[in-house]
Amino acid sequence: MESYDVAVIGAGPAGVMAAWKAAESHARTVLIEREPSPGKKVCAEGVLADALVDAELKPSSEFVSNYISGAVLYAPDEQKKVNVGGEGYILDKPAFLRVLADRAEKAGSETRFETSVENVERKDGLVEIRTKKGGESSLVRARIVIGCDGTGSVLARRFFPRKNYQAITALQYSMTDCVVEDESKLEIYVGHEKAPAGYIWMFPKGKGDANVGIGVKGAGAKVLLDRFIENHPRVFGSAKIERTLAAPVPVGGEAESCVADNMMLCGDAASQVIPLTGAGIHTGLVAGKIAGEEAAISALKGNVSAENLQRYRDRFDKLWGERISNSLRALDSFERFSDNELNIITGLLEGQDLVEMANGFSPTKAVALMARHPLLALKVAYQLLTG
Ligand SMILES: Cc1cc2nc3c(=O)[nH]c(=O)nc-3n(C[C@H](O)[C@H](O)[C@H](O)COP(=O)(O)OP(=O)(O)OC[C@H]3O[C@@H](n4cnc5c(N)ncnc54)[C@H](O)[C@@H]3O)c2cc1C
Repeated sequence: MESYDVAVIGAGPAGVMAAWKAAESHARTVLIEREPSPGKKVCAEGVLADALVDAELKPSSEFVSNYISGAVLYAPDEQKKVNVGGEGYILDKPAFLRVLADRAEKAGSETRFETSVENVERKDGLVEIRTKKGGESSLVRARIVIGCDGTGSVLARRFFPRKNYQAITALQYSMTDCVVEDESKLEIYVGHEKAPAGYIWMFPKGKGDANVGIGVKGAGAKVLLDRFIENHPRVFGSAKIERTLAAPVPVGGEAESCVADNMMLCGDAASQVIPLTGAGIHTGLVAGKIAGEEAAISALKGNVSAENLQRYRDRFDKLWGERISNSLRALDSFERFSDNELNIITGLLEGQDLVEMANGFSPTKAVALMARHPLLALKVAYQLLTG
């Protein structure tokens, strides 16, 4: 049986960073991924520019499909829109993850593709990980295992409380031949009729290609997305759907616990996602990075207790904890507005309010303004009565 200091399950954004940082910190590291290559999971591939800074990568045409200069948020009636600034990228996510996985390998991490983790057990102060490749089982031993295996995480389901783990369904079409007004802008459409408690997105990849998707609570995502496409013939009249994929997005705020003796969870497995936007690439990259560093330090010192590994959670929360919980509150508030109210509110918001709110920076500016400011509440009521 092969032995490592750190075993990482899953080569998504969290896993490739965790493996890189652990190996770079001189831990004997293995990265185990069930797919033949990284990035098979569906994703709209949008990130703000800071995500690459945190990934310690310069933007490159090798893995950036399109450069973004901001977003346009459409009110439910699409009469009003808010322009939001913010530089970012639409990644070619498989290529991006490949670059990060190669970097982990160069730092000394061993990568095992087409290898599925079937089970994890604690034994004699270590963990034993049962894997399967092409029908053959084998065991890997490690001091610490980092579960970066997404929403269905084997490690999370077996060892961590999951009762507050909430996920919504997201469905996406990879489309070609779309007629997009401005390919440097993300387009977001809200409204309970269009996307109950969620939103529809169109992220342009350039040359008429786009990721067009919907995230909603409950069933009916396909019917709603098809209706949206049908209602926008100017954009989608000649467009083709190349691929249809769906996956869950955790939107309930951070999991109550993401460390245990010998174990850590990162990214979607720990629900480290911005609830209002469903964005989890940047948070996953940062979580993986910190977890990899802390796992290496703890494994090499021989102290793999939950108490010691808690440093990972504390460091992550210092950077993202408040943003995630603020965004969760903003999501709760948004769900309470009707489409009519959202139409009015969209007219009252400025782009920056929206960015701050969606990314979970202090929601006092926007949500509190809308929900609690007496003057604004009056204005909303007045416009509803007279409009
Ligand atoms: C439709 C959709 C659109 C999205 N759009 C965006 C967006 O535009 N921007 C953004 O920031 N976020 C977006 N997200 C969220 C984002 O994709 C995730 O938050 C992010 O990928 C989480 O990274 P992760 O590393 O935690 O997990 P994942 O990316 O889910 O990676 C987990 C990896 O673990 C592997 N794995 C799972 N189980 C096992 C096992 N038993 N053994 C071995 N390997 C295993 C999987 O194959 C996978 O490679 C979107 C999500 C969806 C569903």
